[in-house]
Amino acid sequence: MPEEFQTGYDPSKGDNFIFVTGGVMSGLGKGITAASIGRLLTNAGFDVTAVKIDPYLNVDAGTMNPYQHGEVYVLKDGAEVDLDLGNYERFLDIDMTADHNITTGKTYRHVIEKERAGDYLGRTVQIIPHITDDIKRRIREAADGTDVCIVEVGGTVGDIEGMPFLEALRQFAHEEDPSDVLFAHVTLVPFSKNGEQKTKPTQHSVKELRSIGLQPDLLVGRSPTRLDPETRRKIALFCDVEPGAVFSNPDVPDIYRVPLVLEDEGMHEFVMAHLNLHDRAAAPSDRDTSWREIVTREPETSLEIALVGKYGLEDAYMSIHEALKHAGFELGVDISVNWVASDEMNDEHHDRLTNAAGVVVPGGFGSRGTEGKIAAIEYARTESIPFLGLCLGFQMAVVEYARNVLDLEGAHSAEVDSDTPYPVIDLLPEQVDLDDMGGTMRLGAHETNIEADTLASKIYGGTTCVERHRHRYEVNPEYIDELTEAGLIFSGWCGPRMEILELEDHPFFIGTQFHPEFRSRPGRASPPFVHFTRAAMSMQKRPAGGVEL
Ligand code: GLN
Repeated sequence: MPEEFQTGYDPSKGDNFIFVTGGVMSGLGKGITAASIGRLLTNAGFDVTAVKIDPYLNVDAGTMNPYQHGEVYVLKDGAEVDLDLGNYERFLDIDMTADHNITTGKTYRHVIEKERAGDYLGRTVQIIPHITDDIKRRIREAADGTDVCIVEVGGTVGDIEGMPFLEALRQFAHEEDPSDVLFAHVTLVPFSKNGEQKTKPTQHSVKELRSIGLQPDLLVGRSPTRLDPETRRKIALFCDVEPGAVFSNPDVPDIYRVPLVLEDEGMHEFVMAHLNLHDRAAAPSDRDTSWREIVTREPETSLEIALVGKYGLEDAYMSIHEALKHAGFELGVDISVNWVASDEMNDEHHDRLTNAAGVVVPGGFGSRGTEGKIAAIEYARTESIPFLGLCLGFQMAVVEYARNVLDLEGAHSAEVDSDTPYPVIDLLPEQVDLDDMGGTMRLGAHETNIEADTLASKIYGGTTCVERHRHRYEVNPEYIDELTEAGLIFSGWCGPRMEILELEDHPFFIGTQFHPEFRSRPGRASPPFVHFTRAAMSMQKRPAGGVEL
């Protein structure tokens, strides 16, 4: 075999791979389907991990606009990744790393750097085999040491960008024992006007997949309802799979119920049979049922929370929505999150917050909407409404306090107003001379010290916490004494850096420089979110126009 076709891989290592592709259109919930399969295997006792392939040229998601791509999710190692990785962390209850997100930018950069370094001297460097080998290597490294690795290919089959990845998967399946690899394809099964489920789009997308040498073993039809037996039969016949390999994934009220639907469909049994995993799986009576118990717990009450942010798109703040949901699972409350557009918020628009039992101000970048966020924080502070400020929300709480309590007129963050007379939030010293925008913020997990006998210490039940970060600015050390003397309590810090703020004589007022939402899981809700929600629940009965403490 020519040297460039030797992967150096030993197939006897025994990992199993589930490759998940999507057809017809994007946004079908392919990631949730893939994560749900993983959850079911986790419940059966397997060690499951996941890899998300994003066929774009960006090296990572860090420079992408949340309005187009949804939030940038941050991993513990500081990788800025696609929000789907957040779903994998939440569904599988694992911590992933940068190696679990493969992008076109990452693989090409690596191969081109190797070419420049002379590693391929004399040879022509090509997509096949050099890029495809690099893709296969990354998948195997990410899977190493686990039982099952789920690999989701972003985008839709047929996209030019996805081709090298699908070719890599084709080769991959060739190199492995066939019983260690399963191809799952998620497509749309729309309804016709007369209420009939249509299989043509699925047939076409499977045809496309087969034209590049991939035959799905399992098909998932996304549809508002379950697939009819006749629809399943047709799909099986025309797509060349057994009828038992066609599964429904109907709309459900909450993404956390998707694993339950797939379990009812028996998908986990099919997957385990295909991958020969039954011998090693926990007996059905020993499987972990906690997921079902957590996500089907009936809420006893409901609650409205205002999220004062720039984007009216749930995906832009996905992890915050999820963290609130997790807190709701824990406390038995159904939380509805109302978006309040921060650029429409000002002192005259407090009515938008009157129904809210709590106010969350999320992270963000740039100047748009910051005055609205400050107005919302002032309202929450002066009206004793529970407040949770995250990253930019924490920074704006410092600005609000400086302006309205310290009377530092025009105080601001240097990010928003570079000419402010009082830059209470300023660039981190290590950021001053940076040129590159990608991957250069203060990122990832850092430990915060927590002052004893504070609200923060009560929330975290101790004097430290480890949470994930993503910021370039911080509380300007020159103002810390002045702010503290005026009553703002910095109850968490990391070296010279202020990490948590709180107020006395307020039912609940917490700001964090970090993003606790990224570590929240169903069944293990983030402590600041739980305490915030509990405070909001106890505010529910406040009379109109005032607060009873
Ligand atoms: N823009 C702010 C900073 O860079 C806040 C970042 C954030 O909210 N993630 O410090």
